Amino acid sequence: MNSGFAVDPGIARIALDVPIAPWFDYRIGPALAGRLAPGDWVQVPWGTGRRIGFVLELCAQSDLAPERLKAIESRLEDAPALPANWFALLRFAAGYYHRSVGEFALLAVPRTLRTPPSPKARSSAFARARRAGRGVGGVGAVEAHTVGAHTVGADTGEGGSVGASASASAVAGAGDPRSAEPAVAHLDATSAAPVTASGRPLPRAVASRSAAGQPLGADQQRVLDTLCASQGFSVSVLHGVTGSGKTEVYLRWFEAILAARPDAQLLLMVPEIALTPQLAGLVAGRFPAQSVAVLHSGLGEAERARAWLAAVEGRARVVIGTRLAVLTPLPGLAAIVVDEEHDASYRQQDGLHYSARDLAVAAARECGVPVLLGSATPSIETWRAARRGRYRLLEMPSRIGGGALPKLHLIDMRGLRSESALAPQAQTAIAETLSRGEQALVFINRRGYAPVLGCDACGWLSGCPECSAWRVLHRAAAGGSRPPRYQLVCHHCGGASPVPRACPECGNLGLAGLGRGTQRLEEELASQFPGQRIARLDRDVAARRGAAQALIAAVHDGEVDLLVGTQMLAKGHDFRRLSLVVVVDGDAGLFCADFRAPERLFATLMQVAGRAGREVSSSHVLVQTRYPTHPLFECLKRHDYSGFADALLLERREAAMPPFAHQALLRADAGALDEALAFLTAARELAEPLRTADPEAPVQLFDPVPMPLARLKGRERAQLLVEATARPALHAFLPHWLASLREVKTRARWQLEVDPAEI
Ligand code: ADP
Ligand code: ZN
Ligand code: ZN
Repeated sequence: MNSGFAVDPGIARIALDVPIAPWFDYRIGPALAGRLAPGDWVQVPWGTGRRIGFVLELCAQSDLAPERLKAIESRLEDAPALPANWFALLRFAAGYYHRSVGEFALLAVPRTLRTPPSPKARSSAFARARRAGRGVGGVGAVEAHTVGAHTVGADTGEGGSVGASASASAVAGAGDPRSAEPAVAHLDATSAAPVTASGRPLPRAVASRSAAGQPLGADQQRVLDTLCASQGFSVSVLHGVTGSGKTEVYLRWFEAILAARPDAQLLLMVPEIALTPQLAGLVAGRFPAQSVAVLHSGLGEAERARAWLAAVEGRARVVIGTRLAVLTPLPGLAAIVVDEEHDASYRQQDGLHYSARDLAVAAARECGVPVLLGSATPSIETWRAARRGRYRLLEMPSRIGGGALPKLHLIDMRGLRSESALAPQAQTAIAETLSRGEQALVFINRRGYAPVLGCDACGWLSGCPECSAWRVLHRAAAGGSRPPRYQLVCHHCGGASPVPRACPECGNLGLAGLGRGTQRLEEELASQFPGQRIARLDRDVAARRGAAQALIAAVHDGEVDLLVGTQMLAKGHDFRRLSLVVVVDGDAGLFCADFRAPERLFATLMQVAGRAGREVSSSHVLVQTRYPTHPLFECLKRHDYSGFADALLLERREAAMPPFAHQALLRADAGALDEALAFLTAARELAEPLRTADPEAPVQLFDPVPMPLARLKGRERAQLLVEATARPALHAFLPHWLASLREVKTRARWQLEVDPAEI
């Protein structure tokens, strides 16, 4: 790279995890002269301390005066080389989200590897992570799996060579992977029961019914053939109903790629791994002689470092991960799958904003490889791209084995005055389902006991002192035979307080929880259906390590009759004996201020409905609503996602809203709302001379307003929406504007979000 320099490149541009500049210039001292190249890891002085960064490029001159340049301290000798395609992705991300390359680069690196080593450390963090990854290879799939699906498989510790040849032979048995002949790998997989990410074996029912070795359905085969024929960069959308066998398509595609190119690396992105242990287990079981690395936020630092290094050094063949995994450097990247591509958890909301789905498409483009976006309810942005032919649309409209989709019925809740959460029809339906020995699921998207505590004498409500939100009444985990204890918890700041004995305003003792969440619903169901085994799954339950997986396993094993839960239950679980789903509040989100709410509601309801009836003869979904004539429900009844999405696109086009407009949101927070608003007002004025730079496509700025959740953790928040009909116009405007904003003297903290998820 530096061979073309006529003059000595005495300066290195270093990416650091600092927002203030895209890179930082450092001097290359005599000890490192001629030994540095782009992609190297270096340690540099920063302030009074030191930081790890990456060499972006070498050059002969800096804008800084020579005496102000500090020297690079050292090069991290045993760090892995970082592929050029990764830096291309980082440059794209930094440009698109208007942040520095280093922020994106270091975000993705496990903390142990990006912390400057202590001078006393006997070995480097890299050596430790590599050593930890050793010893599981060559022993066989079973031992490998028991380490948990983190870096499972043939990790020989000797680079990729042994792992790669082992994988080659394992897949070679498959011959043409598109043929119906089961590969050797498949047979291994069924004999060695796959395990979940926690090391817990999958319920036998799931393990033995893996689709491995089964002939693909006609739709699956058609989709797979199309995927296998794609060369270079392309974006495909797999729109398949729940139970259409999308996962099997992903796995067969990966197998086909590895059969042709044993050193390929494949990236499978999932919304939340703790919720989809089946998937991690399935993948670990399908690539037994190979290396599967799992990357998600629930890992310990050492596990993460080990898995990350296996991915970066090309030893891991399949990398499964949540949103951050998209920023993993993968030298052999050959294809990407984004499962449930519409899922909101692909967006990083605080700190560095990005959409992992969008970055996956960018990564595929930079690396020249295909990417597949899978969903039963694609996001409206993805759907539009597919409708315009920019993305290739692949459809799988029916369930595997021809199973029927559940029948959807609306229960009109108008005029129904009931103490119970459930309408009489819903109660009857549950009772009948349980009496047939089948399972039922009751869905409510609100955790806790009651959304707010209130005084019936003076109207006091349990507001959070730090946020513009109510503190939610929660029942603490029961301790033995003691009566349940309650507390008030804010879902936004996490602040908690004991339940007051009397109303803080008027002293009245009659305080009561208003409305209901999962805990209260569970209690009500227990009294309505005595003797039934009831289980609840929500974020509070899942916070206990392994609890969600244990619960899901119990459902599979038939140890649960009635399930209560939130969205967590909606994701990816394939409950075979479940024949009834009741949605307690089908209207939540129907009339929300956020224009994306109906899209989310539709996706959630489709997903919940999809849990029902994969194996039972007939299944039903009951949606309780006060708006039974709402068009959203009409589409839902027909399982008509495309009808819904096309109508939504029409609406958005008429209203000139995304995806027909492109947005950025400037957010400010301060101790007082006025301060935040004053900054945004100044920002708006600064934009005036810049925003009409392109008269054909001017950028529009709205009035600064308080955010919907105006107060959070004691800070007052406001926002300013920026919009343009053409994306290039917006992105041409933003850097100039940001530069002038950095000059504004303010006590407010501010940040820009490109393509905001919520406005
Ligand atoms: P989706 O992700 O589209 O909702 P899944 O991938 O979960 O669907 O597939 C649904 C079920 O069908 C799974 O239990 C899977 O093992 C099974 N399956 C998938 N493909 C086949 C096939 N070709 N033959 C038999 N069973 C299959
Ligand atoms: Zn009161
Ligand atoms: Zn709060």
